[in-house]
Amino acid sequence: MKLTLITIFPEFFPGPFGDGMIRVAREKGKLDVNVVNLRDFTDDPHKTVDDAPFGGGPGMVMKIEPVLRAFESMGLADRAARPAGTRVLLTSPQGTRFTQSKAIEWAALDHVVIMCGRYKGVDERVAEHLVDEEFSIGDFVLSGGEPAALVVTDALARLQPDVVGCFDSVESDSFHSGLLDCAYYTRPAEFRGWAVPDVLMSGHHANIARARREEALRRTFERRPDLLEHATLSDADRKFLRALERERGARS
Ligand code: SAH
Repeated sequence: MKLTLITIFPEFFPGPFGDGMIRVAREKGKLDVNVVNLRDFTDDPHKTVDDAPFGGGPGMVMKIEPVLRAFESMGLADRAARPAGTRVLLTSPQGTRFTQSKAIEWAALDHVVIMCGRYKGVDERVAEHLVDEEFSIGDFVLSGGEPAALVVTDALARLQPDVVGCFDSVESDSFHSGLLDCAYYTRPAEFRGWAVPDVLMSGHHANIARARREEALRRTFERRPDLLEHATLSDADRKFLRALERERGARS
């Protein structure tokens, strides 16, 4: 897939793009990342991308013209005429929350374009007329959209086919199938008297799989019960959750 990031800080990206799964995805030809410098689309000697807000008040606002020109250069200025596999996004703390299901949806697209906001934000007409969707990576305010774009890039890179060595590992990760993941341990089996659960040392694959599933259910029940509403659960899972509820009832 192709990912285009529009930013006034293009130097933010080369480091993280040269490491880890993003590097692997790029080297395998599964992810083509392009960083576009918004200042290249200005028309004044100072390469101005911001201006004071109408109505006054502190801070600056990103101007619409350079954004439109950047979109035009990619043939993406007309929202209605974009190819079906293209999605143009804008970073915003007020956008829809970025989740694993969004990552799965966007990872299957041909081209994702992320416009990174800065200052007090981007002239609202960009959201109103030019982008398909605004997204947020959480209820906090960053100084710019670049870290959010990087978060999305990493999440999409690892979902590209043949990037993570064993895709089962991605599928068992938290959120992918609706639950939190189980806990993991590695050697040594005992460290300062801290032991790992016996079942993991038993070599009995079916018991290990069930214990891990129950651990994932227990963690989700305790830490993120909201996820259980949409998780795909077997009869055995439901039975185990009912037992957890009884346990909780007995304690209180
Ligand atoms: N005035 C804005 C915040 C501006 S922060 C407000 O209160 O809603 C500057 C820019 O950083 C934003 O325009 C956005 O592009 C980016 N940003 C900040 N927090 C973000 C978040 N949680 N998720 C995604 N982008 C964010």
